[in-house]
Amino acid sequence: MSFDRMIRLHVLGAGGAVPTATHGPAAYWLEIDGHGLLLDPGPGALVRLVRQRGAPDSVDAIPAVLLSHLHLDHTADLTALLFALHSVVARAADPLVIAGPPGTAAYLDRLRDLYGHWVEPRQRELRVRELAPRGALDLPGGGRVEAFGVAHAEDRFGAGCLGYVFLDAAGRRLVYSGDTGPSPDLTAAARACDLLLVECTTPDDLAVDGHLSPARVADLARNTRPGRVVLTHQFPLVVALDPARTVAARSGVPCAAARDGDVFVIDGETEMRS
Ligand SMILES: [Zn+2]
Repeated sequence: MSFDRMIRLHVLGAGGAVPTATHGPAAYWLEIDGHGLLLDPGPGALVRLVRQRGAPDSVDAIPAVLLSHLHLDHTADLTALLFALHSVVARAADPLVIAGPPGTAAYLDRLRDLYGHWVEPRQRELRVRELAPRGALDLPGGGRVEAFGVAHAEDRFGAGCLGYVFLDAAGRRLVYSGDTGPSPDLTAAARACDLLLVECTTPDDLAVDGHLSPARVADLARNTRPGRVVLTHQFPLVVALDPARTVAARSGVPCAAARDGDVFVIDGETEMRS
């Protein structure tokens, strides 16, 4: 296997809105065919990125940010990134791509209403792309991102909430659920993918609309047969229940419950835990 033709996932935040020592809010660094992407920069994402072994140690090395939806636990550090890029310390001059659901441009406008030029990168042109469900974005190096709609509460920008299929040039697929309840479009996207990065917010007895629980993830995995399931967006109550064991036992699909710092490659091996 060539190492520049692959997808590598750094889980920077494996938890939900309430951080714990092992599970921070959503944040992921993805490398697709050697090109990086910051996915869902929740609170604390930048600090966890620059501390992560094998990931960029500078905000200058972030070429693109992708948002699944505009809730604060998935977006807060986009503001921190823009503020950092306004600093004279930031040196990169290449364009910064910011992609997300419809409403992303309005969200950025509201940030500028609040913070003015302080959230305008000093040297980098912003290229904002809004992705509707079934929209796609070509990535440098031959990779691609395809959006699909999911079942999650809308925010005040009226935007839809998205999940994503990430493809490398060899056709390997990582599917990210974003935040969602059971969703036919997620089921269609996840079918026979290589790695399903899926939210698992609550225990089954506290299951709510717009989110998944271990039994719901097991149903999804049993119906779609991904190569491997990685659980994320885990609140403390679900972490305590060993949800990966439940999902694997009920679905027959290998499953890992991510913790902050975990790295997965598309063939499903956890390379390190910290
Ligand atoms: Zn959300």
